[in-house]
Amino acid sequence: MTVTALADKDRIFTNLYGFQSPGLKEAQGRGDWDNTAELMKQGPDAIIEVVKASGLRGRGGAGFPTGMKWSFMPKEPKPGKPNFLVINADESEPGSCKDREILRHDPHKLIEGTLIAGFAMRARAAYIYVRGEYIRETEALRRAVAEAYGAGLIGKNAAGSGIDFDVFVHRGAGAYICGEETAMLESLEGKKGLPRLKPPFPAGAGLYGCPTTVNNVESIAVVPTILRRGAAWFAGIGNPKNEGTKLFQISGHVNNPCVVEEAMGIPFRELIDRHAGGIRGGWDNLLAVIPGGSSVPLVPAHEIMDAPMDFDGMKAVGSGLGTAAVIVMDKSTDIVRAIARLSYFYKHESCGQCTPCREGTGWMWRTMERLREGDGDSATIDRLLDVTKQIEGHTICALGDAAAWPIQGLVKHFRPEIERRIAERNGGAMMEAAE
Ligand code: SF4
Repeated sequence: MTVTALADKDRIFTNLYGFQSPGLKEAQGRGDWDNTAELMKQGPDAIIEVVKASGLRGRGGAGFPTGMKWSFMPKEPKPGKPNFLVINADESEPGSCKDREILRHDPHKLIEGTLIAGFAMRARAAYIYVRGEYIRETEALRRAVAEAYGAGLIGKNAAGSGIDFDVFVHRGAGAYICGEETAMLESLEGKKGLPRLKPPFPAGAGLYGCPTTVNNVESIAVVPTILRRGAAWFAGIGNPKNEGTKLFQISGHVNNPCVVEEAMGIPFRELIDRHAGGIRGGWDNLLAVIPGGSSVPLVPAHEIMDAPMDFDGMKAVGSGLGTAAVIVMDKSTDIVRAIARLSYFYKHESCGQCTPCREGTGWMWRTMERLREGDGDSATIDRLLDVTKQIEGHTICALGDAAAWPIQGLVKHFRPEIERRIAERNGGAMMEAAE
């Protein structure tokens, strides 16, 4: 089924570009905080059922069904063990830049969603963990939280619902790994952001050892609109199992890089032509695309052109939707250098707890730098691929996979380019010897 582009009337984020004020009065004018207590009156379980029926899947990259995740939380918190909601606003994946638009231009959608989601999970408070570098975004969010407290929308008897609910904003210190949910919990507790071994999962023992759910900003910010317009409306957008709207972040070699809300499953070509002004130099100039933020494998031009931009569509071309951070590369790109740069990023951000990641990310980066110069042979490529497989799935957190996948994608689709460089270097060396 070909998905049609999102109609303006179906947009959830109506102030994405900041044309209007992010303030409370203007947000209320756009429909936020409209009779929130009435929405909550249906009760926690009914809210979870609506979110399940909407088909909403986590927008932070993994795509796990949001309503199901919420249902893992204890329905009757034990004394001294309150439930917590943590919002992941540590947007650090290279290419990702959607949550910042919500934080600075539409923060009340997030705060209202936080209250409703927290209520549905019987949480008594929520922590919003913002990326350290997002200074202005944190200021905007803190202003909005203060406004919401001032208007009685959160805090005691939040929005007249009869429940007390606090929202705390916490700014990180700039470590990518704190975007991993258990590292985030460690960081919130005031410790170094080191991912925890799972199990136990956060829903069993999370923040301060209490049941916790960690959700992405976008996943939470869409919830109030889903409740207002109904699960069937949201589920009617996009493809089956890939429902709803999505914020796409289009960067790289397009004519107009942008963040845009679109229907899940919109074909790649239409997404780029409609919103990003097409590929720089035309479609024949497209080389490859990293469709979901730097940690997913790249997809060569001919495979992605007509692919649906959703979880299953990207899986079918051997990649992932991730955060829908679409990095477009035209034929001027040095593709080996581009992936080598990502390898450096992951080496730099490894927390160092597990050996395959700590040692492997550095080894892969150094090998990538050699191959960039054509220094190696066919066995070097095979060994590099083998090392990525030894890292993938053998580490505490997904950073190991994130470091391995871009290289796997490169070797799968651009091995001839790596071999060409090796041949060129060897040919040059041979000619020098002959002179
Ligand atoms: Fe740390 Fe890497 Fe292990 Fe994750 S995979 S816990 S980042 S060493």
